[in-house]
Amino acid sequence: METTIAQIYHKSEEEEKKLILREYRALLRSLKERLKKGDRPRIRRAFEIAAESHKDMRRKSGEPYILHPIAVARIAVEEIGLGVTSAICALLHDVVEDTEVTLEDIESEFGANYSKIIDGLTKISNVVDLKSTTTEQAENFRKILLTLAHDPRVILIKLADRLHNMRTLDSMKREKQLKIASETTYIYAPLAHRLGLYEIKSELEDLSLKYTQPDVYEEISQGLKETKRERTRYINEFSKPIKEALKTESFKFEIYGRPKSIHSIWNKIKTKHVSFEEVYDIFAIRIILDTPQEKEKEDCWRVYSIVTNFYRPSPDRLRDWISVPKGNGYEALHTTVMGPSGRWVEVQIRSKRMNEIAEKGVAAHWKYKEGREKNAAESKLDSWLQHLRDMLNNPDTDTIDFLQDIKLDLFTEEIYIYTPKGDMRVLPQGATALDFAFDIHSELGAKCIGAKVNYRLVPISHELKTGDQVEIITSSKQKPSEDWLNFVITGKAKSRIKYYLKEEKRIVAQDGKEILHRKLNNMHVPASQHNLNEIVAYFKKQSPLDVYYGIAVGSLDIKELRAFTVHGDKLQQPVKEVALETKLLISEKEEQKNIPSKDTELIIFGESSDKILYKLAQCCQPIPGDDVFGFITSGEGLKIHRTDCPNAAQLLANYGHRVVKTKWAKNKEISFLTGVRIIGLDDVGVIQKITNVISADLKVNMRSISIDSHDGVFDGTIMVYVRDKAELDKLCAKLEALDGINKVIRLQVSDK
Ligand code: MN
Repeated sequence: METTIAQIYHKSEEEEKKLILREYRALLRSLKERLKKGDRPRIRRAFEIAAESHKDMRRKSGEPYILHPIAVARIAVEEIGLGVTSAICALLHDVVEDTEVTLEDIESEFGANYSKIIDGLTKISNVVDLKSTTTEQAENFRKILLTLAHDPRVILIKLADRLHNMRTLDSMKREKQLKIASETTYIYAPLAHRLGLYEIKSELEDLSLKYTQPDVYEEISQGLKETKRERTRYINEFSKPIKEALKTESFKFEIYGRPKSIHSIWNKIKTKHVSFEEVYDIFAIRIILDTPQEKEKEDCWRVYSIVTNFYRPSPDRLRDWISVPKGNGYEALHTTVMGPSGRWVEVQIRSKRMNEIAEKGVAAHWKYKEGREKNAAESKLDSWLQHLRDMLNNPDTDTIDFLQDIKLDLFTEEIYIYTPKGDMRVLPQGATALDFAFDIHSELGAKCIGAKVNYRLVPISHELKTGDQVEIITSSKQKPSEDWLNFVITGKAKSRIKYYLKEEKRIVAQDGKEILHRKLNNMHVPASQHNLNEIVAYFKKQSPLDVYYGIAVGSLDIKELRAFTVHGDKLQQPVKEVALETKLLISEKEEQKNIPSKDTELIIFGESSDKILYKLAQCCQPIPGDDVFGFITSGEGLKIHRTDCPNAAQLLANYGHRVVKTKWAKNKEISFLTGVRIIGLDDVGVIQKITNVISADLKVNMRSISIDSHDGVFDGTIMVYVRDKAELDKLCAKLEALDGINKVIRLQVSDK
């Protein structure tokens, strides 16, 4: 029988419909226990609206678009633990932005509750927009936090959306992948962490790593696969006696080995300079108890005692987050014990309830909150949200500073500090006595001159440690000063100090304002917006306030106004001569150093083959063949960075609008200076052998060679000119194959 193209198409359309329905039913099933009367038709309606409005759209992967909102809804329900309202909003999360459906439509169909959440989701959809400036991005991030403080569901659905996009990033173009992945590391993973969504945070980080540094990701996941059997065997051996003892004590429990995330392994390798082998040697298990809430603390400690009957604990590695939960609500008991054959094993003990909170964060809190008082963890999370709201509502908060401060809050670990009366405050690690003073009260901070830490007198810049008892000493004569900003680290202290300084400046500036107005009066011109702008521009200041302040403290000379000309009631600043010619010459010279010849193009920008001048970034020294992107700097034109440059994530996430797509043009004419480090056994002929490979065998130009030798091991650095990455790789492989050579590594700038 013959099949026409139309029939094939029709058939696959049928299959797609079936797939969509299957996914939709799975969503309904996961909501089943939470469905109340009237929910079902409402969900159905949301699904229909979404399906109808996205019906002609497809994702980059080619699948029907509607599968995305359904997947987001399923993540929101199944992995974050959200309910029916959130599922409906997740289904509709892209319709206002992408289709004809308006917010008013949603409000009249579902009610204001829903349209508010969807409005929030639409507003934060472009945090890092290609076209937006840094200030706009900061403003967007502020919006995210504002919606978070208002209704955390918005951000939770947004995280579900982001997670699904990260899981399906494969079909995107490379630049898009890099941008989305960097933004995820920069904003969404820390947010997930702050909200206590540990599982989602790890997955986001792992997926980001997969796209920003594919080779690292590949190497670690390969390593994990290879060592899996050995690790499972060890964990089983370790858990066996504990399991038996727990059974005898008739505990209901689960015990399992906890896989480490690829990202956390990578972090450990980077920060602690350990090898892959050493990292795989770190084990962790988790014991989860099924026990009623009133007995959970006692039971967790009983289990702790059983574990430590078998294995000796490391005394400085006990963490009791049950008595004092983390700021994001996390509760558990952690200890590290010495397992069989002398390996350290981290043991996490928690109840089922605590485990759900650890996995689902805030959403789980709400579930448990019904019908009883808030516990310590919940009120702490609430107070963080309150602090966020306070800062956002303060009109004096500078958006970009605020963004930096909040990011600090998101990333850092916590310490616990006691007041003289024994009340506990939670502060981020690195907090000083002054941070503590501001945390208690802004007046206390402003008047702080010193502190007693555990009865010992210390300066206000003293860094606190967990368990410190701190008494603040004040003086009515004290005033905040600029240098305080150098050692406080909390957002609250920073914003209060800045506020005081600004107030102070305002008072001082008042004098300058009077002086300037008198002067203008003498010149017979008004203090109009135009005239003030001319003066501000002339003195190269940010605002009239800065000019007033400068005049008041004498850093600006008001006599310079004499050089201004007056036209009617308008002032005009004198024209300054600019040494344009010399400037041009210098920059041309600099350009020549980096670009070997004008008519050889190494880099192609965007889709076209526009010729643009550029420089290679010093921080990562890219050579042809490296994966690169272009970054438009403010003063130095275009710079080319490697995508695995240490600065890349920050640049891509923060200044997305300045990033341009670049790729290497095929070019064999020009050589690049790069370095390799060679480690091997010291041997009389070794230098001869190396130089032979470089000059005679591969005919690569060598610029310099320096070798250190200690106790029979040599460590050498050779600077060579290569044409591209392929040539460098070949060189490294050849050198590594030589007798007596252990390791050949491409030099990073930071190694020098
Ligand atoms: Mn989406």
